[in-house]
Amino acid sequence: MTFTLPKLPYEYKDLEPAIDSRTMEIHYTKHHQGYVDKLNAALENEKELASEPIEELMRKIDEIPMEMATAVRNNGGGHYNHSLFWTVMTKGGKKMSGGFEKKLAEVFGSADSLKEKFAAEAMGRFGSGWAWLVVEGPSASSGQESRLQVCSTANQDNPLMKGNVPILGLDVWEHAYYLNYQNRRADYVAAWWNIVNWEEVERRFTGAGQTQK
Ligand code: MN
Repeated sequence: MTFTLPKLPYEYKDLEPAIDSRTMEIHYTKHHQGYVDKLNAALENEKELASEPIEELMRKIDEIPMEMATAVRNNGGGHYNHSLFWTVMTKGGKKMSGGFEKKLAEVFGSADSLKEKFAAEAMGRFGSGWAWLVVEGPSASSGQESRLQVCSTANQDNPLMKGNVPILGLDVWEHAYYLNYQNRRADYVAAWWNIVNWEEVERRFTGAGQTQK
């Protein structure tokens, strides 16, 4: 099997005004497609690696043969990150459940406090990269409850490469917002909360816990 562009769960215009239609179209058809194409090219003669789920390739990024490691890191990361990104957004956003809000409050003080910490990661990431809400991996085997944390990564790196499970991600590459916001990353981040699909984030949170057991 080769990697393919996942179908978008909405129309390009559906995330307006937070993300404009033209940005969505270019981001999806040019940037994401480009990562998929280059990942397939890098693994053209690696049938075994090319047949693995993208999540698995990310988890074992340090075991990828050196001659293709950078291409898989950048383009496999690009493919995985954008595939997650599209699903955690939806037209008009979807609210978080009371239970998940309580969980966030236990860890971060409140849901608003989580958003502030997450935005600080998004703003603090110099140059290109991503901000994340993750379930930390190491607690898995110890039987402790899944631990939530915020972090950021450079370029197309992601939390799977460090053994953590991302449940919410925000693309802060300039290509994600420059047409509409130019250099105003903070405005992009603030508007983005309005289209976050918290139902999907919570589904990923629950799934992360199950994977770890
Ligand atoms: Mn992007």
